[in-house]
Amino acid sequence: MANVQYAQFRSQNKVVDASGRVVAGLVTRVGTRIANAINEYYKQKGLSSALHGYKWEFNLVQSNEVNAWCMPGGKVVVYTGLLSVTQNEAALAIVLGHEITHAVAGHGRERMSQAILAQDIQVAGNLALSNNPKTVNIFNTVYGPSAQVGVLMPNSRKQEMEADHYGLIFAAMAGYDPHEAIPFWERMAKLGGSKPPPFLSDHPADEERIKKLQELMPEALTYYKPVGQ
Ligand SMILES: [Zn+2]
Repeated sequence: MANVQYAQFRSQNKVVDASGRVVAGLVTRVGTRIANAINEYYKQKGLSSALHGYKWEFNLVQSNEVNAWCMPGGKVVVYTGLLSVTQNEAALAIVLGHEITHAVAGHGRERMSQAILAQDIQVAGNLALSNNPKTVNIFNTVYGPSAQVGVLMPNSRKQEMEADHYGLIFAAMAGYDPHEAIPFWERMAKLGGSKPPPFLSDHPADEERIKKLQELMPEALTYYKPVGQ
């Protein structure tokens, strides 16, 4: 289902051509390094089979929205609006590490199963599911294209913490300084200004998130190999 929905999203949005634009090349480069780090991490843990069927693809889409998301199967989208908040390559790595963790850890699948149960949709195999308009609808709410997910729409607090935790590790393994997570989330918090938009209202309180990131930093640094070393 992810493949079909991703193709549809691409056809309906303005994908920035990587050959002509430095920024699109940046997204592919950072994304590929994060994906390699994840492959390596899963291999070390003997969990490579969990990534079976992943075919990574990274696209930059022209949009002022400050967002990014990853579908199961490794289909990733970054919106150009996010780049003004990430501001540097390491911060983009932090966001991609976070979003890809949601996908590989099956967070969307957890939420999708809950929604399918809640709506009492008859489950009779994957094909039946992917042909059911209700299921497609849930898919689009849980994953990217509805714009209700990604950086802007946090998952449960537990899932957010997990994504922050492994996102830091994957960014560090990919050669990016995990410390960049802190100024990045501070910039995200400022976006809300004095009246935070609804999408931030469920976020773990910003101070709480930053405190947690600081606690996770020593572990992440054990994985950090700066590029070129
Ligand atoms: Zn998240």
